[in-house]
Amino acid sequence: MTSCCALVSLPLSTSHSSLTNSFCSITPHFFRHTHLRPLTYQTPTAPPCLLPSSPIVTKRRRRRKREVWVGNSGISTESQCRASEPANDFVVVNFYRFVLIEEPHVEVAKHLSFLEGLDIHGRIYLNEQGINAQYSGPFKDALAYVEWLKEDYRFSDVLVQISPSVNGHAFPKLKLRYKPSLVQMEGGIQHLPLLDPSMRATPMTPSQWKIRLQALHEKADISKSVHDSSFVLLDVRNSYEWDIGHFHGAKRPDVDCFRRTSFTLSYNQVISTDPLADIDKEKTDILMYCTGGIRCDVYSTILRQQGFQNLYTLMGGVSHYLKNEGPVKWIGNLFVFDDRLSLPPSAYNHEVKIQANDAEVAAESNSFASCYICGLHVRDLRHRNCANLNCNLLFLCCEDCLKDLRGCCCLKCTTAPWLRPVLPGNERYKKWHTYREAR
Ligand SMILES: [Zn+2]
Ligand SMILES: [Zn+2]
Repeated sequence: MTSCCALVSLPLSTSHSSLTNSFCSITPHFFRHTHLRPLTYQTPTAPPCLLPSSPIVTKRRRRRKREVWVGNSGISTESQCRASEPANDFVVVNFYRFVLIEEPHVEVAKHLSFLEGLDIHGRIYLNEQGINAQYSGPFKDALAYVEWLKEDYRFSDVLVQISPSVNGHAFPKLKLRYKPSLVQMEGGIQHLPLLDPSMRATPMTPSQWKIRLQALHEKADISKSVHDSSFVLLDVRNSYEWDIGHFHGAKRPDVDCFRRTSFTLSYNQVISTDPLADIDKEKTDILMYCTGGIRCDVYSTILRQQGFQNLYTLMGGVSHYLKNEGPVKWIGNLFVFDDRLSLPPSAYNHEVKIQANDAEVAAESNSFASCYICGLHVRDLRHRNCANLNCNLLFLCCEDCLKDLRGCCCLKCTTAPWLRPVLPGNERYKKWHTYREAR
């Protein structure tokens, strides 16, 4: 699987304990007195998440911070940051930022030092192009790291996305290191001008994205408007991610892995399944989305270099959209790159329900997912790994096939030497020795 992760650096003057203690007392009350002003987006950067300040932050600094946050984003933040999250509830945090880091190895050391003693697992990668981070931990530890990060002006307005992790850690351990490429992609991404916002797509807020999709659907049934040459709705994720959830009207990607994506990458060879082949680079709007935004930023830079003019991305990706707008025009669940694998829209936003009058979306929601083995409809929108350790394929499976093939993806795998038991519920497989010793 690909992973989208990353990370940052900061001054070490802040003590962990004072920060973490402060989060235990965060309440919505805090936010009622922050007087955030509604503003529109002024920059193409991701909106910040307002986090409560620690006791060591002076009132003056608090005031300054709020001004900066409000000025950059205009986002009311209470819902984004789950400020009332119990301190010990586990969450998963995602963020990334493309920004020049002149001494990434020094930054890595600073981050490792800060995280010492905090209960953080995940993948946090840094290099000269910035940071990509996905990690889990108790709310207070997870947020302490974010707060520390935001003390650095380079990351002060980073968009931080937080979602619940009800079974504790969603990653086996912490990997925090220098990584040459913040996103796995064939050929790497180091050569791309990612630090230049003008080379990326124009970000659309979740609200703008929703309005745009609704307008497109009103104009014509989107399944027919695939032939509408004025736009392309492009899912830049992997096909297995599309299989459990996607925006209504987005075509299933024809690649199994973003890092090997072939869309327009072969300059001389037009691939028949390439959704961008033969389109007018100057007139067609390319609306692209991914899970958290980073893959779109990378991919849009590639498309920009190839001459595409009208590139738009969903800011903060689907997770940010579900949190702010709910599953409007969204079908199914969201695939995530951690042990949770699949999250329903309600994990991001308990309050917003799918529009009752969107019968088309509701109908597709009830029927789109199918068993990899028999092709029949599956209700559980969650992949499982093949029980054959050497296969480990991620696939959707109905209950009958699960029983018949004992958790394997095909008959051949059922006869493999390294078979693991069928996993109950939403568990993930552990290390092989767990099963080897139980045999
Ligand atoms: Zn089946
Ligand atoms: Zn298999």
